[in-house]
Amino acid sequence: MKTLKNHKFVLAMQAMMLMAMVQGSVAQEDDKAYLQTANAIIDEALQRGKAYEMLRELSFEVGPRLSGSPQAAAAVEWGRETMIEHGLENVHLQEVMVPHWERGPIERAAVVNSSFVGTHELTVCALGGSIATPTLGVTAEVLEVQTMDELHQKASEAAGKIIFFNRPMDATKRNTFAAYGGAVNQRGSGAAEAAKVGAVAALVRSMTTALDDVPHTGGMHYEEGVPKIPSAAISTLDANFLSDLLKKGAPVSVNLQLSSRTLPDTPSANVVGEITGSELPDEVVLLGGHLDSWDKGHGAHDDGSGCVQSIEALRLLKALNLRPRRTIRAVLFMNEENGLRGGKGYAEHVEKNGPKHIVAIESDRGGFAPRGITVQAENQIVAKVARWSYLLEQIGADRIERGGGGADISPLVPQGTVTMGLMVESHRYFDYHHSANDTFDKVNERELTLGAATMAIIAYVLANEGL
Ligand SMILES: [Zn+2]
Repeated sequence: MKTLKNHKFVLAMQAMMLMAMVQGSVAQEDDKAYLQTANAIIDEALQRGKAYEMLRELSFEVGPRLSGSPQAAAAVEWGRETMIEHGLENVHLQEVMVPHWERGPIERAAVVNSSFVGTHELTVCALGGSIATPTLGVTAEVLEVQTMDELHQKASEAAGKIIFFNRPMDATKRNTFAAYGGAVNQRGSGAAEAAKVGAVAALVRSMTTALDDVPHTGGMHYEEGVPKIPSAAISTLDANFLSDLLKKGAPVSVNLQLSSRTLPDTPSANVVGEITGSELPDEVVLLGGHLDSWDKGHGAHDDGSGCVQSIEALRLLKALNLRPRRTIRAVLFMNEENGLRGGKGYAEHVEKNGPKHIVAIESDRGGFAPRGITVQAENQIVAKVARWSYLLEQIGADRIERGGGGADISPLVPQGTVTMGLMVESHRYFDYHHSANDTFDKVNERELTLGAATMAIIAYVLANEGL
């Protein structure tokens, strides 16, 4: 009896081992097939890639595309036509209302009273959402602060002044996005905080680690019940100049002139196209970027790159006749920069009408060389995605780490969608970000193209295998 039991046990073990071997070899076969597919995607991207040409069109034929502007409307039409041209399926627009802020023709600032430099022009630009100054501008003495705490400590000196927020992005941080995150509250809420202590305007050091004469715009917001005061970004070179001048001890007054205005909300749209899944068409893996940009430069890195990569990823799969089990959808979101209306509207629409989005992957860190994928989820999910990192090893994009997804896809998180972001080499991103330097020529074709291939590979395997 004992022997028989042992014998049965051995047989059962042998059967289990055999099954494991069969499963293992199936997995190996799958791995080989996926590796071949990944190779084919990379070859197609490098040999016949269209992302760079799409970005050229978007940069030069459409141009900068601030929400609500005629160029943003042209960008929506460009996105729709480009998706159709490249064979995407179910191409459609999803309408959203967006804010409509205009910079206006006048934005200038000058030191007007210095005994050291006399009158001296400063390079500035209005922050997105700022009100205008009176026609002749606001003229007031400048008070420099590094932090909100310092502003509150100096509250008694702030009335009637222009508050100069001059805390640099911390270049000692390893991650440039962390450096940005550590400085950007000056831009977003500087004006409101300054107004609370009686200031008449805010000047904010540009959010960049570059030292140059180019101001970087970006969103700012007012607070209900707090006076609205004009707010502008100043170039890093002029921020240093102004700070040095203040250190000499004599009062420094600046005249600031802005002609920006906010118009009524405007109808606009997200642009959607897909490859319908062969077995589970009602489960979606989303690829996206945002179609709107600031009005300086071309918005080539931010985020023309993410848009063309999302379309190109689907084109690559189409070109290779790869139809995944689940649907892969490209979405060009409208209004990330100053309202996130596209991302919010999209998530609301999906919540009401479906289909279920299992994964959303955004590219919004610039069109630089891909390094991997950040996954905004538990380690267990990160490990499941990391299972596929070998497919991206050969192009150096195999880092799968816990990290942010993206602003436009973040409203999908409460529905259980796992969000991910294309991780890129981003040391230079903030040199260009939100400035006149964010032009087509700053994007490298190979880097942009390999980013699209990375998105195609990871989307394809997740659309087939799930999470
Ligand atoms: Zn962006």
